[in-house]
Amino acid sequence: MSINAIELLAESRISAHRSYLKTLTPDIWSPKECLLVEDSEPSIHGLISLCEGRSNNPSPGSEPYTQVIAEPGYVPYTSGKVSTTTVGDEMCRLAVEAVFSKDLQQLLSAGPLATAAILAAATVAVGKTKAGKWIPEVGVLIPKKGNEVLALWQEYRKWASGKMEHAAPMMIRDFFGSALAWQFIRINDGRIHDLGGAIMCITTGSDFVGSADDPGLGDMEIYLSAMNEGLACLGGSAVTPAIRDAVLCAAFMQTRKAVTAVTMKRDIEELKRLLANNNGPVTPGEFMTMRWWEAAMVGYHRIGLGADGYRHLADDTGVFTATRKCGKIRRAVDNLIRYDEAVDIIFDATQGDGLNEALVAMSAAGSKGIAGYAHALAAVTDEVFHCDCGEEGHIDVGEMSMASCLWYAIIPRYLIRAQLDGLEKGSPAIQNAFAPAKPGERNVIAQTLPGEQLHTDSWDPLWTVTGTDISGLVSRTLKRVLLEDVYSEEIYHRCNDIATDVLTDCMSMEYDKPQLLPLSEKWCRLFDEALINFREDFSGPIAALRELVGRIWIHLIIGDNGENGDTHARIFVDMDRHFRSTYSLPALAGRAIRRAYLGTVSSSMEFSGFNPYHCLVEGVTRIC
Ligand SMILES: [Zn+2]
Repeated sequence: MSINAIELLAESRISAHRSYLKTLTPDIWSPKECLLVEDSEPSIHGLISLCEGRSNNPSPGSEPYTQVIAEPGYVPYTSGKVSTTTVGDEMCRLAVEAVFSKDLQQLLSAGPLATAAILAAATVAVGKTKAGKWIPEVGVLIPKKGNEVLALWQEYRKWASGKMEHAAPMMIRDFFGSALAWQFIRINDGRIHDLGGAIMCITTGSDFVGSADDPGLGDMEIYLSAMNEGLACLGGSAVTPAIRDAVLCAAFMQTRKAVTAVTMKRDIEELKRLLANNNGPVTPGEFMTMRWWEAAMVGYHRIGLGADGYRHLADDTGVFTATRKCGKIRRAVDNLIRYDEAVDIIFDATQGDGLNEALVAMSAAGSKGIAGYAHALAAVTDEVFHCDCGEEGHIDVGEMSMASCLWYAIIPRYLIRAQLDGLEKGSPAIQNAFAPAKPGERNVIAQTLPGEQLHTDSWDPLWTVTGTDISGLVSRTLKRVLLEDVYSEEIYHRCNDIATDVLTDCMSMEYDKPQLLPLSEKWCRLFDEALINFREDFSGPIAALRELVGRIWIHLIIGDNGENGDTHARIFVDMDRHFRSTYSLPALAGRAIRRAYLGTVSSSMEFSGFNPYHCLVEGVTRIC
């Protein structure tokens, strides 16, 4: 079926699909309800049967729902190459067949999520004609996204004995493993983060190879060796649907890209008519349902939620049940997408195909749709910690949200600092737009309004922005940094004093890098103080992460123009290596150290007044 035929088929069903999504509100976790596919579809059925038929796969409903069923050969940051197995080979073969199955593509193209993709692309294409005049001038100032492999190679060559063909699968497996390891800090078995990351490689293989922002790893074979052990060594009743959903995501990415590309090529007047005849721009709910599947949220979360440490929050297929009941929990989970939207807003406007919630909001509502967006993401974390709705999982998901904040700023794909450094070289108007707030204007927070999404159906923000005093920022910081039940009143007071001291400096100093860079030491002291009870027994891992608190402040948040010789890729690899090493510590110590780290770094990003996500998004609101 040709792309045009696919699109026309989807277009003829827009009204039925919109009404399905609005009135029946399909469960976002269910591919069947989202009308993606049923388990009886042959390519999916074959994969599920093979997965369940593995000799060591636990019987249905056995706890935990995600578990290691065979010992992996690969150990991140230790092994010289990834390992593969014959079971993994066979599963990879079926998974790839399913991803590229023509029947499956056709089913996905005819569903409501393809319709949402058409509406999103039309919304952005039409909106850009009004709110996107800045795009060409700003686009040339930022670096090109992709090709991060060359930067990572400098770090990986020592493990891979100088062989790129060994390093490439390790890089992609560790990249996804890092997301799980940073987010699911209550899973004590680090093999689950690694193997879960390996499974998720199926989604990038089909998305990246040959794309405009190809990371440069190589062809599909690289991704197959990266995912092999994930498919062979992880099992349980959450893992089978997780693998199915990762495959569906990979297949849907193809559909979505094709639909977007064709829509974007159409005449603007035609797209205006399409929106006008079909009840207007994509809605936040339609967009996010589609984006959940496009961003691999479902399979990814099933893996983590099914494992010991989280399975009390999930059903036996790894569904995080409270996301259906508490809007604050849902939003904190969705922050894994929204930090991506914030860091990617300029890339997606200039180099990508525009599938980005922040860009859609700007296109539909202008600057008011995204003013304060990054403050709202921070508020989502702080508010979920305090929700008293009675559901379980608020603290856990607050931790996941902080990790999302770190991940997109630190992985060497989005180059947050290089983007801001580039924008500082623009015209005075652009420099002003993207500069951090002035002293006296930095103590700003958002408060969200009730809801599951962050916007109304007409893309008005469901948050307000207000000023706060230093103590408001300090109490948020301490809530993030200190693991519940392990700190004394004395530690709280000392952390309170240190946080007050560093945040007072952050609020009052001019934007003068030589003055701001040394504040790194004060953020490090906050991390130290939070862990004072653990320092004697775990001085090594604490010192290694302490150093990274400082390096992230210097290199990524304030920026030192590369003067200390640090690189984005090195910070990522060092952080991931040291953070993952904490999983070999006694459980409570490891958890307290990881929480203090996520809390300190996310606070230094989001409360200091130099939030790089805010600079990027707010800059766009000032020029759009
Ligand atoms: Zn709640």
